[in-house]
Amino acid sequence: MENFDLIVIGGGPGGYVAAIAAAQSGLKVACIDKRKNLGGTCLNVGCIPSKRLLYSSELFKNVSEEMHHHGIEVKTPKFNLSQMMKGKEEAISKLTNGVEFLFKKNKVQHIVGSGFIEKDNEVKVNKKKYKATNIIIASGSYPTQLKNIDIDENIIVSSTGALSFKKVPKKLAVIGAGYIGLELGSVWNRLGSEVTVIEYANSIVPSMDADIGNTFRNELQKQGINFLLSSEVTKAKIKNDEVHIDINSLEDKKVSNLVFSRALLAVGRAPNTEGMGLQGAGIETSKKGHIAVNQFYETSAKNIYAIGDVIEGPMLAHKASMEAQAVIDIILGKNGQVNYDAIPSVVYTSPEVAWVGKTQQELDKYKINYKVGKFQFSANSRSKVTGKTAGMIKVYSHTESDKILGAHIIGNHAGEMIGEFVVAIEMGATAEDIALICHAHPTLSESIKEAASLASFGQTIHS
Ligand code: FAD
Repeated sequence: MENFDLIVIGGGPGGYVAAIAAAQSGLKVACIDKRKNLGGTCLNVGCIPSKRLLYSSELFKNVSEEMHHHGIEVKTPKFNLSQMMKGKEEAISKLTNGVEFLFKKNKVQHIVGSGFIEKDNEVKVNKKKYKATNIIIASGSYPTQLKNIDIDENIIVSSTGALSFKKVPKKLAVIGAGYIGLELGSVWNRLGSEVTVIEYANSIVPSMDADIGNTFRNELQKQGINFLLSSEVTKAKIKNDEVHIDINSLEDKKVSNLVFSRALLAVGRAPNTEGMGLQGAGIETSKKGHIAVNQFYETSAKNIYAIGDVIEGPMLAHKASMEAQAVIDIILGKNGQVNYDAIPSVVYTSPEVAWVGKTQQELDKYKINYKVGKFQFSANSRSKVTGKTAGMIKVYSHTESDKILGAHIIGNHAGEMIGEFVVAIEMGATAEDIALICHAHPTLSESIKEAASLASFGQTIHS
């Protein structure tokens, strides 16, 4: 039986990063994944294909609607969906092959198959057994299902099916107003679908700052996306290449039946814990079904760790990768840890939305005293130049210490700009620190300085 210092189950951004980091530190490592292609959900059916389609569809929309503002005349643009999908597949394979290359470079053994943990830290894959001093479970997550809705990945799809529609659905229902539903809804809306988002809660992306969330919904509505909030989907049935959806309004208790060409079920993701021998190995799960770990990512079984989507916390690729590096440090006897207050979230729609730290709802709930600085992009010179003036930056800082508690951006390039606030929170910076930093002109990031100035001093030049 082959022996390893570390076996990682799962080759996503949690697992593959852990495997490479361990190998770089001299450990003998194997990484097992059911998929032939490395990269997990993120590279194969998540972050990467969705961002590629968001980019392609936004290019199409910009060429269709923006060019004439700049004096550029384009004959009615058309798109070729199968070519668009081919571009997506190429982006995926470039990245998954890249991880395969890094495995070879760092001498990580890649084993394709389903890993099952047996006693004494043995792992069985395809009837073959391997032994490891340490095991990391990074088995990720899968789309949550709903009662009375059967996904066939053709008419009723999960995010995976919605990344590969063969033609643009005439009418698309998106069940769930989380970031995955809104991103994929935006893709198909830009390509011509009539999109209706049906959401149980009375707001979209509930983890978002409420004020930003309202602006976000208005912007998406302006693009033609319809919202049915406070609405519960009780049943979806496929009939003759269409889907009939029963919707119960939580406000007026009215029940309606709407017909769509396709439906995307995007009501969240659940941790992947089945079929890995967790029970037999003595690995406990939490009430919500995640693998339970302590602050050192140790499970209830000795020398078995878990990271990424399969444990609690935001289901994000960069969170999984941060935990991967931290757990390898811990295994090596160093001080590995993740600052969960400094994990950014980004929704890659147009406008983008990005945030880090506390929302206003959280500050109010925990009775934390705060000051707020809010600056609209309509007053920013770069926004005026490009014509993309929607959105704002909001900064919360502590009333006494002025330390930055949270920052929220809705607007063009929000996902890139949030990095400045992540650094600020990591470094324990105050709003004043940011207000006094020189930002290049004309850039969108000048609005970061202006919002911080408003939070810290209550005034700024351009508002
Ligand atoms: P995963 O990436 O899910 O990888 C787990 C791997 O484990 C899988 O490849 C699976 O095959 C394998 N596995 C499971 N069980 C076994 C077993 N028993 N044996 C062997 N292998 C096994 N996050 C972001 O940060 N930014 C984004 O823009 C973003 N966009 C997304 C868009 C979509 C449509 C989706 C679905 C997700 C998106 N995410 C995004 C979330 C992100 O993909 C996940 O948070 C991330 O992939 C989690 O990494 P992980 O390593 O924990 O698990």
